Amino acid sequence: MNGEVGMRKAKKNKGERTVLNMRNGPTNQLNQPINHMNIPIDPQLMGSVKGFLDEEEGCCLYETALAAGRKAPCLEIGSYCGKSALYLGAACHENDTVLFSVDHHHGSEEQQPGEEYFDPNLFDAASGRVDTFCEFRSTIERADLEDTVVPIVCRSEIVARKWATALSLVFIDGGHAFETVLSDYTVWSPHIIEGGYLLIHDIFSDPTQGGQAPYRVYQRAVDSGLFREVAMVKTLGVLQRL
Ligand code: SAH
Ligand code: MG
Repeated sequence: MNGEVGMRKAKKNKGERTVLNMRNGPTNQLNQPINHMNIPIDPQLMGSVKGFLDEEEGCCLYETALAAGRKAPCLEIGSYCGKSALYLGAACHENDTVLFSVDHHHGSEEQQPGEEYFDPNLFDAASGRVDTFCEFRSTIERADLEDTVVPIVCRSEIVARKWATALSLVFIDGGHAFETVLSDYTVWSPHIIEGGYLLIHDIFSDPTQGGQAPYRVYQRAVDSGLFREVAMVKTLGVLQRL
């Protein structure tokens, strides 16, 4: 695949703009489920990027970022190899805004050697650590999104310490320990503008299906009364700031 062709192949016609369906996830104005045909991301490129995002969840990220508009930039915690950044970045490009993508790029607990999600191809022998930054950078280059996706290579909590920019969308998909998800929620959600979106990945209401930390934090956000529930697409929860 020629990298230059990468992104932005299937620009939508005006009037075809998609909207979020409150209950059943993303649909277009004809109320049909959206898919990659509507999204300006080359499916071959998308298919080649490592990651943990379901296609429907990705479509929902794209739609929500489009809906988030141009009032303020978007930010994600957990870049990994760039899969979610492709969906969010494509929408940000259309909105002529940017996506800040935060990750220390040394992997979460479950991605370390010997753990369930360890990928030996992402292990840098020279430093003796997992390092996903090269892969992430290559994804963004191939998608021609270097002027849209701004990598921030650092721990989320450190970046947040001096953060002072309002955000129209925050996507939490970083570390899965309860303290980490809670910290990501606590430090980033106050920057979301009214009408902006908070998305949290890996929400399992059934403990036999997955870890409970993102679900508990999602519930805390709902209970705060500061957000309304917009959609749940597979394990991706979408909230809107009131
Ligand atoms: N959104 C990605 C998947 C992210 S996986 C996709 O669509 O494929 C989780 C990522 O969070 C890992 O790359 C890990 O390095 C990062 N991470 C974990 N804890 C973090 C923290 N405290 N600060 C920044 N990044 C963190
Ligand atoms: Mg995830």
